[in-house]
Amino acid sequence: MKRREFLQASGAFSANLIVGSSLLEIRKAEAATSLPIAALKAEFDPKKDLVLISGSGAPNKFDYNASYSKRKQITPQVRVVASSAQAVGQAVRWATGNGVSFAIRSGGHSYEGLSQNADLVIDVRGMAATQLAADKKSVSIGSGASLGVIYGTLEPSHLAIPAGSCFPVGVAGHSLGGGFGLLGRPFGLACDSVLSMEVVDASGNVLNVSESENPDLFWALRGGGNGSFGIVTKFNFRTSAVNLIAKFAITWSKPAAQAAKIVLAWQEWLDSLPSAITCTLHLTKEAGGVIKVHIAGLSVDSESKLTAEMKRLQKLAGPAEILVTTTMTFAKAANIFNGGGPAYESVLMKAKSDYVTEPMTEQGILTLLDGLQKAPGEIAVLFDSYGGAINKVASDATAFVHRGATKYLIQYFMQWESPGANETSIAMMRTLYASMRPYVSGASYVNYCDLDLGDGYAKAYWGDNLARLTKIKAAFDPNNTFRHAQSVPLEA
Ligand SMILES: Cc1cc2nc3c(=O)[nH]c(=O)nc-3n(C[C@H](O)[C@H](O)[C@H](O)COP(=O)(O)OP(=O)(O)OC[C@H]3O[C@@H](n4cnc5c(N)ncnc54)[C@H](O)[C@@H]3O)c2cc1C
Repeated sequence: MKRREFLQASGAFSANLIVGSSLLEIRKAEAATSLPIAALKAEFDPKKDLVLISGSGAPNKFDYNASYSKRKQITPQVRVVASSAQAVGQAVRWATGNGVSFAIRSGGHSYEGLSQNADLVIDVRGMAATQLAADKKSVSIGSGASLGVIYGTLEPSHLAIPAGSCFPVGVAGHSLGGGFGLLGRPFGLACDSVLSMEVVDASGNVLNVSESENPDLFWALRGGGNGSFGIVTKFNFRTSAVNLIAKFAITWSKPAAQAAKIVLAWQEWLDSLPSAITCTLHLTKEAGGVIKVHIAGLSVDSESKLTAEMKRLQKLAGPAEILVTTTMTFAKAANIFNGGGPAYESVLMKAKSDYVTEPMTEQGILTLLDGLQKAPGEIAVLFDSYGGAINKVASDATAFVHRGATKYLIQYFMQWESPGANETSIAMMRTLYASMRPYVSGASYVNYCDLDLGDGYAKAYWGDNLARLTKIKAAFDPNNTFRHAQSVPLEA
């Protein structure tokens, strides 16, 4: 790809200084940042690696910066868009040698902006190639690829990797934290399909990481890998054959007491649901004290088996209109849930999460619905169904601990328009979350990161796997080179 096309494809904003090799440009960049940019540029390939400097009189934003969470956007002094693991290694060495703090950025969807840094961002979006192996059993994926691009590569071969339905989400941030999607129950989390990785360590060296090479790191990166151990530059994923996808949706709008019974019924239904089916349950408040319960998902088995399961759900939860659509590819089905196309908008938002390991009591569900109704704004609540292949993997087989007894994950999510509403919106989320403490496990999902967890974040994200994670951290990154507000600590 030509440099111009690369810039257009990646959305770099022309008003920012892109440092070329001329002395004048390098001097300008050094003056703008007070950093030794010449040394940073020296070993990069000027045709392939980009060094972007802010503060060149441009507005304080350009597309490269646009992290999903608007409240968390920071313009770094320097953004390196590396095109190879070697270039990433060079950036890491330059940062550590000059005491420059940095963040690692793939798709930029971190809810708390943990891929943002005021000094340096090492951006992996220059490495986004996807290549299906000749035998089609695996696919090599650059760590800057987005999920939508991957699904597009695999679609013609009726293959997929099990991952989320938001197409612009980056494969790296997503799968290093777990990665739940609507193929989760038949095929597991995204991290469960990772066969190997190419990783740049704290010395800037390139490591191969798999079950047979650096196995501890392989264990840690699958669930604990977001910005804590090294920079993943490439993944090799096992592919899964998905010849038939059936999508379904079923909706009730009921007063809270009846809506609670529907959620209880869904829990019972989920307990014996075949692993071919994965679903989410979405709760929203409507006018007049009504709660909308929307259950939707995908099945990789026949339409008749899905219809039988829908009937079983209706028997437990009461009648409602069911929508079943079949014979679409996974990419097409996922795109219906994606809703937004390949790009994304930065929004003002806050999210929190809870794992449920025991069936929630009616009292717990009523508390949730009451909190939703009393909140002066629109909080959305989503339950992601676990079980199936996700729970078949032992809790200590990878760093992703939430398996075994885990029934589902609750995500509380709120989006608003004006920065003036930041405080009240976040307060609303905290009130609802606080009311749910007696009814949930206390564990949270690292990919729905939440700074409100304070010092308890590591235990909430990694539970009993935390002790092993910290040991691996101390072995591979004793100087804590790879860190952010919620990275794996050196000690439990
Ligand atoms: C709209 C939206 C929809 C979502 N849908 C789902 C869903 O369906 N299922 C689900 O499980 N999650 C979902 N998520 C959460 C998503 O999985 C996480 O936000 C994920 O961390 C995003 O990855 P990213 O690469 O886009 O983000 P980034 O912000 O780039 O990175 C996230 C974290 O990973 C680290 N990181 C990034 N690249 C690398 C790398 N190459 N090496 C090491 N560390 C790296 C970053 O430093 C940061 O800590 C969604 C999020 C959003 C905003």
